[in-house]
Amino acid sequence: MTDVFTPAKRSEVMARVRSSGNEETEVAFARVLRGEGIVGWRRGMGVFGKPDFVFLRGRVAVFVDGCFWHHCPRHGKIPKSRRKYWRAKIARNVERAKEVNRELRRAGWKVLRVWGCELRDRPRLMRKLRRLRGFLGY
Ligand SMILES: [Zn+2]
Repeated sequence: MTDVFTPAKRSEVMARVRSSGNEETEVAFARVLRGEGIVGWRRGMGVFGKPDFVFLRGRVAVFVDGCFWHHCPRHGKIPKSRRKYWRAKIARNVERAKEVNRELRRAGWKVLRVWGCELRDRPRLMRKLRRLRGFLGY
């Protein structure tokens, strides 16, 4: 399938996906935490790697990773146009996330990464939340 957008337009569209997508998934995850009675988290703390949610007590960092930007195994796709560009960009995101995980764990943090698609998949989401509760000790 060929891309319906020109390369420039594709970049613009993808940039928008990132900025709005992240906010939406974070808001959705915050709603899940509230609904599940998981408390003690903050958003947007100045912690290394910029976790989306931070539990200072328990030192737990949670990232909600977009399927496109972090190349989810189920939905990660490289756009058809400017393939090399996107492949490199997404590979950098994946590599950066691994580095952040390593650094945080080395500093005594527990790291949980939630895929955007898990927010729409209750059984997978509940498994992630079980792990989160384990990290938090409840
Ligand atoms: Zn996904």
